[in-house]
Amino acid sequence: MFLKKKPMWGKKTKLKSSYDVVIIGGGLHSLATAYFLAKEHGITDIAIIEKNYIGFGGAGRNTAIVRANQRTQYNVPLYKEALDLWPVLTKDLNYNLMFNNCGNLNLMHSEAAMKAARMTIATAQFHGVESHLIDAKEAKELVPALNISEDITFPIHGAMFHPPGGVVRHDAVVWGLARGAAQKGVEIHQQTEALGIGTKNGKVTSVTTSQGTINTKQVLISAGGYSAALIYDMLGIKL
Ligand SMILES: Cc1cc2nc3c(=O)[nH]c(=O)nc-3n(C[C@H](O)[C@H](O)[C@H](O)COP(=O)(O)OP(=O)(O)OC[C@H]3O[C@@H](n4cnc5c(N)ncnc54)[C@H](O)[C@@H]3O)c2cc1C
Repeated sequence: MFLKKKPMWGKKTKLKSSYDVVIIGGGLHSLATAYFLAKEHGITDIAIIEKNYIGFGGAGRNTAIVRANQRTQYNVPLYKEALDLWPVLTKDLNYNLMFNNCGNLNLMHSEAAMKAARMTIATAQFHGVESHLIDAKEAKELVPALNISEDITFPIHGAMFHPPGGVVRHDAVVWGLARGAAQKGVEIHQQTEALGIGTKNGKVTSVTTSQGTINTKQVLISAGGYSAALIYDMLGIKL
């Protein structure tokens, strides 16, 4: 039996000549921004333009680790909120993002690494995020396959254990957010490359794409690793 394929993130439509917001790039930052603009702010006249396919960039090819024990005091509260959001987002999107808070274990192979881990752990604990330094034996209890001998090239000095961290399936996040945004009216145009940004008196007026020009006053450049080069090429601004 063949099931009729239904597009998950909206029907393929022709690019309009104007939108309230144009988002360049079809990765996680783009899709999440579009989804939350629509959900929280009622802004739905949005075109996401992606030169390849959504998830082509880092969003679809990362290590899938999520955690809130980052290095600096500025990062930790932001990532803590993000970590707490995964189960909520899974429900809101009605899409299995395969979030598994199995914990993160980072192994340390030198005294310098142990020192750095102590600082990171202190920062996390200061912000109420669970993270501990454990010794090699305790790490082996968690992961029996570890070799904790001292006569190997890189012996394990200890580990940073962060129980609330885990993994989330990266492409499920891309597809779930894309479907959620499209259900709220956001248009996703794949195979559409941004080629230039038009300005007048220092304000954005348009985006030129491989599928035509779009008039708009608001553009988000969310092209991941390509962003700095794009901003320079399109607007002459060096980051
Ligand atoms: C190997 C690796 C492992 C990682 N591991 C982790 C991890 O474990 N945990 C974690 O949290 N993060 C991880 N990251 C980082 C994470 O993947 C990125 O921070 C995230 O994907 C960035 O999302 P983005 O939306 O900003 O960019 P991207 O996902 O890179 O999206 C940018 C998009 O812009 C498009 N684009 C570029 N130029 C144009 C143009 N002119 N017109 C239209 N579209 C354009 C690209 O095709 C691309 O799809 C990892 C990254 C890598 C590379």
